[in-house]
Amino acid sequence: MTRKLRVGIVGAGPAGVYAADILTKAELPEGFDGVAVDLLDRDPTPFGLIRYGVAPDHPRIKEIIKALKRVMANPDIRFFGNVSFGADVKLEELQQFYDAVVFATGARRDRDLTIPGIDLEGSYGAADFVYWYDGHPDAPREWDFQPHAETIAVLGVGNVGLDIARILAKTADELLVTEIPDNVYAGLQKNVAKDVHVFARRGPAQVKFTPMELRELSHSPTIDVIVHPEGFEFDEGSMEAIRAAKSQKLVVDVLQNYLAKEPSGAPHRIHIHFCQNPVEVLGEDGKVVGLRTEITELDGTGNVRGTGEYQDWPVQAVYRAIGYHSDNLPGLPFDQNAAVLPNDGGHVVDIDGTPIPGVYATGWIKRGPVGLIGHTKSDAAETIGMLVADAPQLTAAEQPDPAAFDRYLDGRGIEYTTWEGWEKLDAHEVELGANDTHQRERKKVVARDEMVSISRS
Ligand code: NAP
Repeated sequence: MTRKLRVGIVGAGPAGVYAADILTKAELPEGFDGVAVDLLDRDPTPFGLIRYGVAPDHPRIKEIIKALKRVMANPDIRFFGNVSFGADVKLEELQQFYDAVVFATGARRDRDLTIPGIDLEGSYGAADFVYWYDGHPDAPREWDFQPHAETIAVLGVGNVGLDIARILAKTADELLVTEIPDNVYAGLQKNVAKDVHVFARRGPAQVKFTPMELRELSHSPTIDVIVHPEGFEFDEGSMEAIRAAKSQKLVVDVLQNYLAKEPSGAPHRIHIHFCQNPVEVLGEDGKVVGLRTEITELDGTGNVRGTGEYQDWPVQAVYRAIGYHSDNLPGLPFDQNAAVLPNDGGHVVDIDGTPIPGVYATGWIKRGPVGLIGHTKSDAAETIGMLVADAPQLTAAEQPDPAAFDRYLDGRGIEYTTWEGWEKLDAHEVELGANDTHQRERKKVVARDEMVSISRS
């Protein structure tokens, strides 16, 4: 007697879809004659951070969706959107329908920055801003751009910091050719930023930018990129970092090119400052009026120490882009320090290190919020390799009939969306874009109930 290996994957972002793809191609142990994979997501749409994390002016990265669509066309993979793990379905319930459950829930919120003034009006987390400009259904429809915020600080020098700085420095009209929804275009018109200052607490050889993203910062005709010279005295740790990674050398080269370049007189400027550690957001009447940084110096190892000298920057808004953070998942252990599901190569373990049978993790919830989208492929290969090897020992699902999960959701009155539903919404958004006076490739629908009703129509 053979049977299908039934796997539920929670999270239909790239990590989840890659895991599903690898599963369908895996060589299965004796006793299995195929796989049946259900991908669940709390968003009504698939693709996670590609839809709700990648900036709208990065269509090249969004092209990855084409490859993910090919994966999802496999009849052995089903999609259930608008299903929230924890609220709509719990682990014990999923275990009735699947032999194994893989968590690919990513990281959705900002890491905390505990400095005085961080809660002032005009101080924002990058993840919230990204959700807003990417039209996430749970983001507020309006962004409260401060009416006089011409000078803005962005904290952190990763690619999210670059996205935030670029979106703030571009004009709303430059972004009108993208998929941004109407409320985002209307909101961006209220942005009056002219100078966006990006702060790195360490030096140029320690930035987390990738070369291509840094280079394209200067592609907008409305933006001058101004790199400030402080921090360019490389210590041995910095030289080592440049020698060790070609991409880091490229990043430093691009920064040096910007440093040598005269500003063209463009109306907006992105400034990049090194060796400035943010220590306080300054406020007046509850609103941001400045940022205080401590000047740092490289200590020989590529790390920095404070100099005890401080600098105040008059800014009217502060965006912190210091990394994402995963949320703990109801009913599962959580490593509070690393903000991941504790795991051994992808097999989720209890706080005492004991593997939890049939429960796995992949992507950012497995290893933390670092790395580009492609990196989740090797992650998924490791996790799925382990799952497949464990398959003969897994407890078979009590309710293996695929229709049993649909019945469960229907019985609970959950308005789930399907792959066919996504295809309807996809076509609708493409049509909205084509009918727009600017002939766009797509215009996003934002409201959850509208997305669900189009998908289920
Ligand atoms: P990230 O790459 O980890 O960068 C976080 C930045 O915040 C670092 O510069 C870090 O500096 C700084 N930071 C952390 N704590 C700080 C503190 N307390 N004070 C001041 N600065 C602090 O994170 P991310 O930008 O959120 O990106 C996450 C992942 O998504 C990355 O792998 C990124 O490449 C990827 N991504 C890619 C794109 C793309 O267009 N290709 C776009 C967005 C995101 P230290 O190094 O000193 O800690």
